[in-house]
Amino acid sequence: MCGIVGIRDAGGISFSLYYALYALQHRGQESAGISTFDGTRLHKYKGQGLVAEVFDPAILRGLEGNVGIGHVRYPTTGANRPENAQPFNFLFRNRLISIAHNGNLVNADELREDYESRGQIFCTTTDTELIAKVITDEICSSGCIEDAIHRVMRNLRGSYSVVMMIDGILYGFRDPLGIKPMCLGKTGKGFIIASESVAIDALGGTLLRDVKPGELICIDENGMRSMQIAVADRRAHCIFEYIYFARADAVLDGALVYDVRRNIGRKLHEEAPVDSDSVCPVPDSGTAYAIGYSQASHIPFVESLMKNRYMGRTFIMPSQTERELAVRMKLNPIREHLAGKSVVLVDDSIVRGTTSRRIIGIVRDAGAEAVHVRIGSPAIKAPCYLGVDLPTREELIANERDDEEVRKRITASTLHHISLDALVESIGIEKKHLCTGCLTGCYPVPIQGESSQSPGIDFLDGTYQTKLEVFE
Ligand code: AMP
Repeated sequence: MCGIVGIRDAGGISFSLYYALYALQHRGQESAGISTFDGTRLHKYKGQGLVAEVFDPAILRGLEGNVGIGHVRYPTTGANRPENAQPFNFLFRNRLISIAHNGNLVNADELREDYESRGQIFCTTTDTELIAKVITDEICSSGCIEDAIHRVMRNLRGSYSVVMMIDGILYGFRDPLGIKPMCLGKTGKGFIIASESVAIDALGGTLLRDVKPGELICIDENGMRSMQIAVADRRAHCIFEYIYFARADAVLDGALVYDVRRNIGRKLHEEAPVDSDSVCPVPDSGTAYAIGYSQASHIPFVESLMKNRYMGRTFIMPSQTERELAVRMKLNPIREHLAGKSVVLVDDSIVRGTTSRRIIGIVRDAGAEAVHVRIGSPAIKAPCYLGVDLPTREELIANERDDEEVRKRITASTLHHISLDALVESIGIEKKHLCTGCLTGCYPVPIQGESSQSPGIDFLDGTYQTKLEVFE
């Protein structure tokens, strides 16, 4: 989980990168960074915190150039350390390189060991630095970027959507299974590559298409070129992006996330109808699901929990009482909507179960007589190794517990998780093209100690199909 963006346009692009990162803020709140190229030099600024906390107009004015990349970080691999903030800039054989990544490699330890055994050093604990090492290794031998990305795709196992700048040429590539999202858009006089289409919308641009799994996009003064480096016999788009992670107004691999969630809500009603006074979302993650449930059931959609949008990240409170207070501040119940009522409470997912339990407590304390919980994802039973920050198996409430046991623990009157088939149907992408690791425990790449079904991948040695699209 991280957000990435790359832009090449006619004028200065630092403010555009800033707005694009702002639109991707939900993908990472730990750090933000921008790096630009002015024709001769790289400029970089990054820091811990939210996009609006890290940058100000003076900083942005100093980030000169008409090409650049940006990143917002959510920690998965690599601890919460300032040096792990991206993009990373470096000079290699007189080439100025900047790189940022979203995803998680499952063979990072092996690769790192391989490099370290040859005396190479690392400055961070991120996968991004490893990707850069593989690229520079190949640049050393062939000097060709296409070959370097080919080597990346052959050597790396896991998820990676990457934006990179080498001497002002902007590159974007996506792993052969397309696990993490990445799309391509047109801005005024240039192009934008971003994790989600919402970044393109923020700039008033036009979404052209998704970056294809295994594709390398190259953008320079002549326009945009596309090269297919690897082709897999199926894809493995992260199903959790649709459930929780992506913004509802994003279009991911052809599907509008809002509509996916509303469809799921409708199917939740088909699978688990219940007689109730109102359908209430857990804001904001449950809203589109709840609207779908309400439309299908004709039970009124009534917001009964209000989220305080001005609360920053919940900080660690020393005592239980203070923590409870913080939750109350974040989510306030509307007693008039809840007292004496039976409510359908709709949310996207239950992970550890602590949030659900707390929220159900708030709804009951406000006087609700029955709380029927409907969840937009199937039970989460397994960890994620491919970039979503889910806890270990032992911490997952649905690990080795059926719905009835989970229901008791979270104190719901009834509980239903959407079935996997209904979820897949709502997304509109065949099950075989989705990564369902966290739901099924079966992953699209081999992972030690886990079961997997890996697609066959064809690496197109030296015969990359190149297609040129020129600037308007
Ligand atoms: P809990 O069951 O207490 O772990 O909290 C689950 C809730 O947190 C879900 O309803 C989501 O809205 C949200 N959530 C789900 N996955 C994540 C994640 N990987 N990181 C942060 N929040 C998440």
